[in-house]
Amino acid sequence: MKVAKFGGSSLSDAGQITKVANIVKDNPDIKAVVVSAPGKRNDDDIKVTDLLIALFTNHQAGLDTDEAIQSIIARYDSIISDLELSKELLNTFEQTLRDYLTNIRQPERLLDALKACGEDFNAQLISEHFNNVGIKSSYRSPKDIGMIVSDEAGNARLLPESYDEIAKIKDIEGVIVVPGFFGYSTNGEIVTFSRGGSDISGAIIASAVNADVYENYTDVSYIYAAHPGMVKNPHKVHEVTYREMRELAYSGFGIFHDEALQPLYANKIPVQIKNTNDPAINGTRIVSDRDDIQEYPVAGISGDTGFMSFTIKQYLLNKEVGYTRRLLQIFEDLDLSIEHIPTGIDDITIILRSHQFEGNNKREQVINLIHTQLRPEWVHIEDDLAIIVVAGEGMRNVYGLANKATSAFMNKEISLQMINQGASEISMFFCIQSKDLDSAIGALYKQYFE
Ligand code: ASP
Repeated sequence: MKVAKFGGSSLSDAGQITKVANIVKDNPDIKAVVVSAPGKRNDDDIKVTDLLIALFTNHQAGLDTDEAIQSIIARYDSIISDLELSKELLNTFEQTLRDYLTNIRQPERLLDALKACGEDFNAQLISEHFNNVGIKSSYRSPKDIGMIVSDEAGNARLLPESYDEIAKIKDIEGVIVVPGFFGYSTNGEIVTFSRGGSDISGAIIASAVNADVYENYTDVSYIYAAHPGMVKNPHKVHEVTYREMRELAYSGFGIFHDEALQPLYANKIPVQIKNTNDPAINGTRIVSDRDDIQEYPVAGISGDTGFMSFTIKQYLLNKEVGYTRRLLQIFEDLDLSIEHIPTGIDDITIILRSHQFEGNNKREQVINLIHTQLRPEWVHIEDDLAIIVVAGEGMRNVYGLANKATSAFMNKEISLQMINQGASEISMFFCIQSKDLDSAIGALYKQYFE
């Protein structure tokens, strides 16, 4: 039994949805199809989820919402017309949007309810299309299948007791089409996962029914060992482990949502990356153990900008009990999430994602609180940092892999702000200045893959 999830680019218009129907027809093992909202049809296009967010923003600003509603309905209208589906669906969709705008008072609830419409409307029309082309199918909302999640708007987590209920979809006749990206709280409110969260819905369902494989359809067949925009013709990854994928997803491997790995990992459900435009290829597979570790001790290299650091220097810091705890408390109190904490004897650095400091004065608050509460010798802030992750299950057993990385940086005269090897020993993190990211990834790639 398979569960297949189709991303936004696979469902962006009638032509793409037709390809999806053909895939489902050719694969009678597919029990559940999890769908995203229609994505971009070309580079200048806007994803339906983003149109829905714009609708919310206009509504909150007290602006007229008709135009925003019409631009959303127009996307579905073109799909419905091209696939010759019932126009009645369009009225239901428009009415749903208007009902939410009138009836949901709490902004975060309204935003989640609107965002969920992207996948919810798509699932309804796709199920109708499946039936029209001879695939026996039914639409099931996350509520129908028992996908109960925590009540954290925009960041839902599945409640573990939901798995048993979701498993019952095995008994439903035909293919079920489920909208991804959201679930329901115990109070019956719509709550979405984080962005890109249809992967999470698919992973949960695949895990609940103990699928033989979870097929994740996008517009690429493979994950590459490094970003093709940074390295020319990078190596195609045939197999990668859940743990490697998790490390790489941390910093820029955008193809599969990092939160989707957990339910799959727990139940050892393999993930097959597939390309809707070229479904015959079995691309990258995410598995628990891979066979080519000898040949490729490193599975991939990823890197992302958007980090910053605070370094605090205090002589004899290592002997001061509770100093680090008080420092971390400052960040916790300001609701700032920390990524890395490299320490020296007399200094400690806190590395964070910089977006957390946009549109607020948390940066000044952190500095003030550090000065008043900890009285260090100095505090230094570094902006525009990037983090590179080199990950591979083989790193535990092969000597000299760190050496390769440091020589790559040395050859390119890139100065390293931090090196960090996690306890898992399957990854190394390097912090550098953002301007050096591309050349650093190129140099590392040469060392590990050429
Ligand atoms: N449509 C949602 C988003 O754009 C979820 C998804 O596509 O997975 O974030």
